[in-house]
Amino acid sequence: MKNFEELCLDPRLLRAVTEMGFEQASPIQEKSIPIAMEGRDMIGQAQTGTGKTAAFGIPMLQRVDSHNKKLQAIVLCPTRELAIQSADEIRKLAKFMHGIKVLPVYGGQEISKQIRSLKGGVQVVIGTPGRVIDHINRHTLKLDQVGTVVLDEADEMLNMGFREDIETVLNRLPEVRQTLLFSATMPKPILEIARRYLHQPEMVKVVKKELTVPKIDQFYYEVNPRKKSEVLSRLLDMYDPRLSLVFCNTKKKVDELVEDLKGRGYFAAGLHGDMKQSQRDRVMNGFRNGKTEILVATDVAARGIDVDDVEAVFNYDVPQDDEYYVHRIGRTGRAGKSGKAFTLVVGREIYKLKDIQRYCKTKIRRQPIPSVADVTDIKAEKILDLAGNLIETENLGKMLDILEEHLDEKDYSSLEMAAALLMLQMGENPSETPEEEFGDTGAEPGMVRLFINIGKKQKIRIGDILGAIAGESGMEGDLVGTIDLYDNYTFVEVPREYASEVIEAMKHAKIRGKSVRLEPANRK
Ligand code: AMP
Repeated sequence: MKNFEELCLDPRLLRAVTEMGFEQASPIQEKSIPIAMEGRDMIGQAQTGTGKTAAFGIPMLQRVDSHNKKLQAIVLCPTRELAIQSADEIRKLAKFMHGIKVLPVYGGQEISKQIRSLKGGVQVVIGTPGRVIDHINRHTLKLDQVGTVVLDEADEMLNMGFREDIETVLNRLPEVRQTLLFSATMPKPILEIARRYLHQPEMVKVVKKELTVPKIDQFYYEVNPRKKSEVLSRLLDMYDPRLSLVFCNTKKKVDELVEDLKGRGYFAAGLHGDMKQSQRDRVMNGFRNGKTEILVATDVAARGIDVDDVEAVFNYDVPQDDEYYVHRIGRTGRAGKSGKAFTLVVGREIYKLKDIQRYCKTKIRRQPIPSVADVTDIKAEKILDLAGNLIETENLGKMLDILEEHLDEKDYSSLEMAAALLMLQMGENPSETPEEEFGDTGAEPGMVRLFINIGKKQKIRIGDILGAIAGESGMEGDLVGTIDLYDNYTFVEVPREYASEVIEAMKHAKIRGKSVRLEPANRK
């Protein structure tokens, strides 16, 4: 696997990927970047989560002249969310390329605002096809100096009926240009577009090796990105593995997560490529002798690790490649012992996980996130088991005397005293952290149906609800489920893992200037 130095990047881009915490190029990046940097056309087969945005973003930026304020690169993508997300990633990559402006343009946002931004001089536009055509027709996007065009998630764009729009844009672009096409699947219409609009394209695909997945229990959890460390700590509490390995995709995440876990009272340490050999040795010794119970690592750093009794592997980030998944989970269940692997999945990463399942021919089962109550039950059971052992093996005479005397004095029952001691032993007061639980609200599986106290009569439209929920909670708009508008109220479905956050975020929000109340719907 190559690091970014070997890919001969512009030093400003190298600095950016280092700051983003990328340790090595992902497989699709390693293959695409050299080809695209030569200016050749390319077809890349890659799913979201493989690092595909940087795979085209890096060579695209490398070809942009920051002194020229004209539009030089266009990325077409299927949805508003993807346009915003890719623009974010490309902006981060361009952080040290002073003078380069990146702008997402998409339907639903006021066009006048976009026009104002475009007038300021934007070299890279990432947009949905319809809105891009709109700007071309208004002459607010001028194509004469565009040297690179990217079709991102081309199969999705075709599924959404954008074929004609894509062709319109391609037909209006200068003949001499570079065209990069990325798609998770390669159905016929995609190949047809490639044949018509790409010039001797190179096909890039990560060749799958035969992968043997160890026979261990594998689970995944759909999580809210902001609750990832909370979910990880619940799983750690619930399964209580003696030694665990937690994988993150970047060095930066490793450092952040270690701090977070230490703050929660875990014995955690990090391992990544920026560390000196002596530091690495210290961390590994701590892990081998059990002083460190949780080792948080990047794929590169974990490569040399040889520890046999890792009881659980956690994919804090979904790995960027199927092979990484197999390597990661292969760290548990060694030497004939049983092991478990857990993967946290955010939003559209589920497609990447489905790919991993398919290619690795393995079953990764979805599990509900354990609630605080589940964790409390399991912790209590463990403590009671330990107490049971003490009863069987130890002489408790002295303790019994102390208790008897005390209970006589205070008039507590022995059961009350046992419960209080259990609470002390658990190190927390479980009733202090109530978890908002949602029963059956009549929603689709995995979703919660929410009631909102405004509707059609208040001149509310579906877009208002969608915009307010996505805008206030930061959740991607395409995660919002069915929205049913009635005269005076509305029902909207949101993923279960986001429900509390949406309710919380909407407490102070207004829709069309009106304060609203959101609550879980009653089952009809
Ligand atoms: P994408 O497939 O473009 O949606 O990327 C998924 C995520 O992977 C994004 O958060 C990227 O910032 C991140 N990413 C991209 N390339 C790398 C890399 N080489 N190492 C670690 N993370 C990466």
